Amino acid sequence: MTTLLDLFKTMEYGPAPESPAAANAWLEEHGRKFGQFINNEWVTPKAAKYYSSFNPSTGELLAETAQAEKKDVDAAIAAARTAFETWSETPGVVRARYMYAIARNIQKHHRLLAVLESMDNGKPIRESRDVDVPLLARHFYYYAGWAQLMETELRDYQPVGVIGQIIPWNFPLMMLAWKIAPAIAMGNTVVLKPASYTRLSALLFAEVVAEAGLPPGVVNIITGSGKAGEMIVTHPDVDKIAFTGSTEIGRTLRHLTAGSGKKISLELGGKSPVVVFEDADLDAAVEGVVDAIWFNQGQVCCAGSRLIVQENVAGRFIQKLKTRMSHLRVGDSLDKSIDMGAIVDKSQWDTVDYWVKMGEKEGGKVFQPDIPLPTKGLFYKPTLITDLDPAASTVQEEIFGPVLVSLTFRTPEEAIALANNTRYGLGGSVWSDNINLALDAASKIKAGALWVNCHNVFDAAGGFGGYRESGFGREGGREGLFEYVRPKWMERPRPDMGTGDGGRGTGDAKAWGEHTPSRPARPEAGRANGHSIPPVDRTPKMYVGGKQVRPDGAYTLSVVGAKGKLVGQVGDGNRKDIRNAVEAAHAVIEAKQGWAMRHGYNRSQILYFIAENLDARNAEFATRIVEMTGRTKRSGQAEVDAAVERLFTYAAWADKYGGNIQETTLRGITVAVNEPVGVIGIACPDEYPLLGFVSLMAPAIARGNTVVMIPSQRFPLSATDFYQVLDTSDVPGGVVNIVTGDRDHLTKTLVQHEDVDAVWYFGSAEGSYWVEYESAANMKRTWVGYGLPRDWMDREQGEGHEFLHEATQVKNIWVPTGE
Ligand code: NDP
Repeated sequence: MTTLLDLFKTMEYGPAPESPAAANAWLEEHGRKFGQFINNEWVTPKAAKYYSSFNPSTGELLAETAQAEKKDVDAAIAAARTAFETWSETPGVVRARYMYAIARNIQKHHRLLAVLESMDNGKPIRESRDVDVPLLARHFYYYAGWAQLMETELRDYQPVGVIGQIIPWNFPLMMLAWKIAPAIAMGNTVVLKPASYTRLSALLFAEVVAEAGLPPGVVNIITGSGKAGEMIVTHPDVDKIAFTGSTEIGRTLRHLTAGSGKKISLELGGKSPVVVFEDADLDAAVEGVVDAIWFNQGQVCCAGSRLIVQENVAGRFIQKLKTRMSHLRVGDSLDKSIDMGAIVDKSQWDTVDYWVKMGEKEGGKVFQPDIPLPTKGLFYKPTLITDLDPAASTVQEEIFGPVLVSLTFRTPEEAIALANNTRYGLGGSVWSDNINLALDAASKIKAGALWVNCHNVFDAAGGFGGYRESGFGREGGREGLFEYVRPKWMERPRPDMGTGDGGRGTGDAKAWGEHTPSRPARPEAGRANGHSIPPVDRTPKMYVGGKQVRPDGAYTLSVVGAKGKLVGQVGDGNRKDIRNAVEAAHAVIEAKQGWAMRHGYNRSQILYFIAENLDARNAEFATRIVEMTGRTKRSGQAEVDAAVERLFTYAAWADKYGGNIQETTLRGITVAVNEPVGVIGIACPDEYPLLGFVSLMAPAIARGNTVVMIPSQRFPLSATDFYQVLDTSDVPGGVVNIVTGDRDHLTKTLVQHEDVDAVWYFGSAEGSYWVEYESAANMKRTWVGYGLPRDWMDREQGEGHEFLHEATQVKNIWVPTGE
């Protein structure tokens, strides 16, 4: 018999089971069978096929849910569309009341939601009870606040429409909150599809929402496979897609939505680093690693799955970590005293096991503690793999399970290089007692969420989202709202490609952007100016790395003015020119004193200087515009004046858009930093050859990006004249690069280039389609005009927040304070 004394000696936990009774009663009430939730009602299609949901801890059957067919998806979207008519017109203060009621209701049903979540997903009840469900409520409270404030704080914005939302299985309720709360706060209505492994808590949530009195059709939940997800994504009446899941499916969705004018935000995978410096509190860092990788069995998109520890403390640290691992308790998700529950599904368990074996094959040393696992259920031991090469696939690929790989470093520079040696950029943590070092590292790691001396801290007031192949768009915080609104002046883009399918392309990627260099201009055009002696030839070159360079292909493009006269010639750029320009843009952004590292004051001074020098040549630029476009002198003059004004605008913004302090629940400071996106390729519109160019270049460089500009294809001479202005304005070589030529031909190279971080494209609808489609290869951010008109002279349409938003990506740095 165990005595009290024995217990004090071992400090062993006893069983502390949570009762599943209430959750089972709820399932029973529904006959363990669910239809679709549309218009606040359960809809059970007669011929529905059902599929089962199991408890991964026990293997028991929990319930069956219907597999959505096209007519179900259509019905849900139609319900959301009808509801949108009134919900979008409902005053924000009223929407806030509904959201407040939902938040209250979540709290009232807290325990039931938590228990069902743990049964369905396998996560420890401790986590669903103390993290997932509190965050669910918190999101509805937080965004109820933004609904309340929308009319005053976001007065220039309107809701987007019907939102299709697709979520994964790792945090079913939390993901649902991240998606639904900001969407309905801003006046949108939603159709949400939970993941197939975990759909029951979303169905319970649907009832919680209905009980709160939310008008029918505002929130609709559809269960079904990826095929049902695809039906939502491609439905013409959906205005935006919000997705969280794998990078692979994210790519598919980018392809499916390309050119459609639908907004899209993608929160994808990660392989986030945990960087431990020698001066870190090693015991605290060990606990941090436990939170980073064994929280939710490592099934966390921002899991700290790559440990990067300073070499001189690595041995000690790994030893401490192994000891700690030996005390982790793995067991039934409803046992309150376990650290890790079950893996969501057998196929995921197999994937995890595959990667551990792969790690071994790749030369890693696998450590799994000698701890008991339940005999039944999908449990996996916490695993550490050391001695791997940084390039090993186990180090590079997302495992999405309780598996940590570890590397070592010697210098802080090496640590940053290792941390950034990934195609992802979702999260990361740095551990050091030296605040200067920690913050420096946090600012240099390329990821959307950086935690200092903590990991996996979340709150509705702090935005979350990726860099690179971890996706784009933000959830949470004020920044998360912009995914669910569009400027008031802008209608939902409905690109017309003449294909009658709402913007989807019909051509093939190979043919797009094909270009044959032109022959010499007609002789009569060349003689147009009537000189008896030919004028001195002045063919502008490309502008790359601050130097004028000849086009690589040695071809020339003639610029024919409004009256059919030759007004000049420019280089006809090719792939090599773009590659050189990208290289130049990279060299200057990444240098130690690079453009992105300069302070805003310096960049604003340079923008003012550009404005000054442009203004000094005002008349000359106006004449050029008139010559090329055939517009009136007054109109040409107005364009130059507006371009000067715009440079002033972004000189102003250069030191005023750095970010803000987020009021999260963390005791400490959460800073949202608006970082540059990186190298941006920009294809300019034909309307307003100077103003279009300046309106796109200026916000990008004001916020620390470097750019490769493709000027207006028809009227490129304003841009080539402009590089003389840049030359005299202290703009470092490489910050602005200009490659003239065929817009789509050059854009194609830009969008396919691995080292270009974003592409902005203001050409045709077809080009917009291909830019969005091709960008999926490395998930670069895109911003396209769909061939639709934009009034660049208008300040509302031609400058402001939309431009700054595109020119930046938000990184949230979380810094706890106190001893
Ligand atoms: P998926 O990306 O396959 O699934 C995420 C969601 O997308 C699910 O609701 C899924 O539905 C749906 N879906 C699948 N295919 C399509 C499609 N063609 N069109 C529209 N929707 C679709 O992730 P998994 O759940 O299968 O996990 C696979 C891997 O993804 C994991 O091992 C992990 O690496 C990563 N992952 C990353 C997450 C993150 O938060 N970043 C979260 C989850 C997974 P259904 O479930 O019915 O297939």
